[in-house]
Amino acid sequence: MSIVRPKKHLGQHFLKDLNIAKNIAEALTGHGDYQRVLEVGPGTGVLTQFLLSNDFELHLIEIDRDSVGFLNKNFPELTNRIVEGDFLKVNVAALEAHKFAIIGNFPYNISSQIFFKVLDQKQHIPEVVCMIQKEVADRLVSPPGSKAYGILSVLLQAYYDIEYLFTVEPGVFNPPPKVKSAVIRLKRNLTESIDCDERLFRRIVKQAFQMRRKTLRNALKPINLPEQTRTLPIMDSRAEQLSVNEFVNLTNEISRWQKKE
Ligand code: SAH
Repeated sequence: MSIVRPKKHLGQHFLKDLNIAKNIAEALTGHGDYQRVLEVGPGTGVLTQFLLSNDFELHLIEIDRDSVGFLNKNFPELTNRIVEGDFLKVNVAALEAHKFAIIGNFPYNISSQIFFKVLDQKQHIPEVVCMIQKEVADRLVSPPGSKAYGILSVLLQAYYDIEYLFTVEPGVFNPPPKVKSAVIRLKRNLTESIDCDERLFRRIVKQAFQMRRKTLRNALKPINLPEQTRTLPIMDSRAEQLSVNEFVNLTNEISRWQKKE
């Protein structure tokens, strides 16, 4: 077996602990009735080997040519299902055309971008199981009112129920990352669409958290708030105090007055 040398710029930290790999693979529940699973960043396949035995049709996407060569050699049964490419650029809907779950030990440098892509494709993605930095995992599961609550917590919690599964220490990777990791599971909830202009919702959430210490009245100034919304009591709150629903209501309130202007 040829060995792939980990490349820092690709966020490569190869998991060495087979038990952990198995536990991650087994965290897929099948929620949402999908037949296919897409593994993002399989590297040298430590997780892949435990995904072969389940009933799903497994696809892989990996950006690193050396890893793809290694995978093709070691998983001949997957040859036509290994895409060499950038998950952030590939059109996953076209690639899969069905509902599919995503699993992976994500490259930590792009984990937020991966979640934004998941949000864009949420109608196709009923379940995600992934390993990310613990700090990011803590943010994604944190409820309103806490310091860790942020943009992705709101945007993802609007559409997914998120569970923190377990913490993973740096020592089980080659090379060890500087931070702790965690495995989380996201299950698409029953919300078909949140009841508001979703683009405006995203803009408001992002803008509100950009200046999270300020009241919404000040933080949202760049959005050109309609005059009538400035006096709303909620404008005295700060972003981290608002639940998903309150952001939805706020969005509706703002679009209502924008239409009238
Ligand atoms: N799953 C493996 C590797 C995890 S490291 C393991 O657990 O050991 C993250 C992996 O994601 C690396 O193999 C890296 O090459 C790959 N990767 C990085 N950026 C990517 C991208 N944009 N699209 C797809 N794969 C990517």
